Amino acid sequence: MSNIIVIAEHINGSLKKVSWSSVTFAKQAAALTGGQVIGLVLGHNIGDVAAEFATSGLDKMLVCDEATFASYLPENFAPAIVKAVQDNDAAIVCASTSTFGKDLLPRVAGLLGAGMVSDAIAIFDDGGLKFKRPLWAGKVITTVEVSTPIKVASVRPTEFDALPAVAAVASEAFASGVSAKEGVEFVSFEQVKSERPELTDADVIVSGGRGLGSEANFNIVMELADKLTGAVGATRAAVDSGYAPNDWQIGQTGKVVAPNLYFAVAISGAIQHLAGMKGSKTIVAINTDADAPIFQVADYGLVADAFEVLPDLTSKL
Ligand SMILES: Cc1cc2nc3c(=O)[nH]c(=O)nc-3n(C[C@H](O)[C@H](O)[C@H](O)COP(=O)(O)OP(=O)(O)OC[C@H]3O[C@@H](n4cnc5c(N)ncnc54)[C@H](O)[C@@H]3O)c2cc1C
Repeated sequence: MSNIIVIAEHINGSLKKVSWSSVTFAKQAAALTGGQVIGLVLGHNIGDVAAEFATSGLDKMLVCDEATFASYLPENFAPAIVKAVQDNDAAIVCASTSTFGKDLLPRVAGLLGAGMVSDAIAIFDDGGLKFKRPLWAGKVITTVEVSTPIKVASVRPTEFDALPAVAAVASEAFASGVSAKEGVEFVSFEQVKSERPELTDADVIVSGGRGLGSEANFNIVMELADKLTGAVGATRAAVDSGYAPNDWQIGQTGKVVAPNLYFAVAISGAIQHLAGMKGSKTIVAINTDADAPIFQVADYGLVADAFEVLPDLTSKL
């Protein structure tokens, strides 16, 4: 019992980038357990998703293409994953710490009677398999041991860089034996439509804070983001003030992101915001207050009024 199962995360026929990070984690885990990395794709008409996932460095890929999984319902997905675990001698099941992973994995752990580590940022062996995970918005890093034979892990994608694509591994059909759970019905999925990239997939993010003062003023942030083909983010204070929608929130209670370039505009840099963005490769902060804590994590800092410098920067770009 030493294999690692990685669950592919996909939407509208595309594999989500976070799935690649989960494979990186799974490969590190497999190096410690001596097992294989087995990818599991659940869905319906998922040829493109499977074709891409097959190039992510898996040792083996199971594809479960059944109408029951046409839409995501954790009540149906969880028992299928349990069967894959049991059929394939898996020691660890993982997916990313996304909304999908947070929703699905505890159910999988419950059905397996397995212990679960949430938001794993490292896996290692010092006489037993151990995980590291952040607490208190990243102020404390804990070491966790899961004592059940099968372990379930949600993986923080920003800590595991995607590996380069390799030649595709052959796929094997997997029959789940699951029939749609009675009493639960998929009705609809209201996706926020945006021309901009998804926050968790974006290479560039321009985020605004409460210092912008109004929803209308967020325009200066959006214009820069659009110029850089980036996504727009926000602090919780900006969201709570009604300047930005909920799904833009970055931080401890929002999304965790790690783009190549992160602009923090009129953001003070509270620990709860840093928890969601401090893994960004290059951080640029613009703030009128030279003592704002955001400057402690910024690679480039500009003490200036955002309304004066941001439109200028956008037009020069
Ligand atoms: C349990 C818990 C969970 C939380 N989760 C999150 C989370 O997920 N994400 C999150 O972001 N926060 C979160 N918070 C809130 C967090 O503590 C801060 O309150 C919040 O991040 C502050 O947002 P802000 O930087 O936009 O606002 P402020 O702290 O008010 O900062 C505004 C900044 O704008 C600057 N400024 C003002 N005018 C200008 C201008 N014209 N040009 C340039 N700069 C200007 C000011 O100098 C100031 O630094 C959480 C809090 C708690 C207790």
